Amino acid sequence: MELTSLADLLDVQVLDTQIDRLLEQRQSLPELESYKQAHERVTSLEEELQKARDDLRELELALDKAEGELEILELKLDEHETRLFAGGMSGRETEHKRLEVQSLRGQKDALEERVLGQLEKVDPARETVAGLEAKTDVESKERSELEAGIKQQWRRIDAEIARKEERKSEAIAPIGEELVEMYEKLRRIKEGVAIAPFDHGVCGGCHMALSPTEQEEAFRDDLPRCVHCRRLLVA
Ligand SMILES: [Zn+2]
Repeated sequence: MELTSLADLLDVQVLDTQIDRLLEQRQSLPELESYKQAHERVTSLEEELQKARDDLRELELALDKAEGELEILELKLDEHETRLFAGGMSGRETEHKRLEVQSLRGQKDALEERVLGQLEKVDPARETVAGLEAKTDVESKERSELEAGIKQQWRRIDAEIARKEERKSEAIAPIGEELVEMYEKLRRIKEGVAIAPFDHGVCGGCHMALSPTEQEEAFRDDLPRCVHCRRLLVA
């Protein structure tokens, strides 16, 4: 009875080892590292882009402001010039108006300089934003492709795991509860391998040879265990 159980348990162990390997494979796909790197690149590009957009917005606001002021100043200058050219003012008034127009022209020149200066800053800032947008798009696309590839592989691995789990539940069904508990406990403390075949005097768990005396000692029990690693043995 025990021997049949142990042989069944070895089947369970084979399936568990395969499941462990699939889980390991799931978590160590080379694409995961590439995805992580692509994700970091996208995140840092998005931060850079956000900052560039903020800078551009500030420059555009300053440009709008300077252009608005210039427009108002041009209207005012136009008004004063019309008044001056219309004539009909006293000499003192005319001189006063002339000086005012002169001052407004000076202000206009200064504002035009400011607008040009702002334009010179806005243009490269727009180029920076456009360049970063293009780069972010390329990197995001690469990240999406990696993600799709990973998901596809995960689906395949998960389906494989599900098949193994199903077979495992069939294999484990006839085995006694106590033996299953012992098996689970040994798996936890023995790197996932609780039971191993005993072949040509060698433990399949720790790969150490057992002397004839040690073999006799190991197999004296209903549940034979390796004298070296204490894993269950199936002869
Ligand atoms: Zn051993």
